[in-house]
Amino acid sequence: MRVLLVEDDAMIGAAVSQALKDAAYAVDWVRDGELAIDAVRSETYDIALLDLGLPEIDGLEILRKVRSGGARLPVIILTARDALDDRIRGLDLGADDYLVKPFEIGELLARMRAVTRREGSGAAPILTNGKLQLDPATREASYFEEKAVLSAREFALLRALLARPGTILSRSELEGHIYGWSEEVESNAVEFLIHAVRKKLGNTSIRNVRGVGWMVDRST
Ligand code: CA
Repeated sequence: MRVLLVEDDAMIGAAVSQALKDAAYAVDWVRDGELAIDAVRSETYDIALLDLGLPEIDGLEILRKVRSGGARLPVIILTARDALDDRIRGLDLGADDYLVKPFEIGELLARMRAVTRREGSGAAPILTNGKLQLDPATREASYFEEKAVLSAREFALLRALLARPGTILSRSELEGHIYGWSEEVESNAVEFLIHAVRKKLGNTSIRNVRGVGWMVDRST
């Protein structure tokens, strides 16, 4: 899952983006409104985290522009404790939820799961195609008799595939779900992750379509 983090505070931005990476999100962190609006226009994000107090273009204006441009991605706004009016305006402008700073990372991650669940096709917290099961809260996966806890990146890979059972995803599509802009990606990184997941869950858990990409079976 790809996250756009819009935050001008260097310490908060660094801490949140590291925590999101640790939790298996691909993170693009921008520090001002222009870059945020450009990013939403040029990339597909599963969710945006939006600080309201930003230089030049503030968060509410970004939200208004993004929504009036037709982007429907889930947005969680990050606000100061005393900014009640901003929170109300943010929700009215199309934010899906908000968090008051300072917040616990665990609560942010839970709200992100809740908001993306509401948005996504499957309302169930457990992702499954009938054979593979994946719990986003714990990263536990199972496939027939096999059970394993996945690493952050193995989880990001399997989550991307399980969000679209029966659809082949190419290497670059998978990379887009696993790595942010700032991350160096080794050329065989996706193969390495596929191999690691198969080792834990079994060789048939992920199918290879030679020269095209990978998929998990259509839901049964
Ligand atoms: Ca700020």
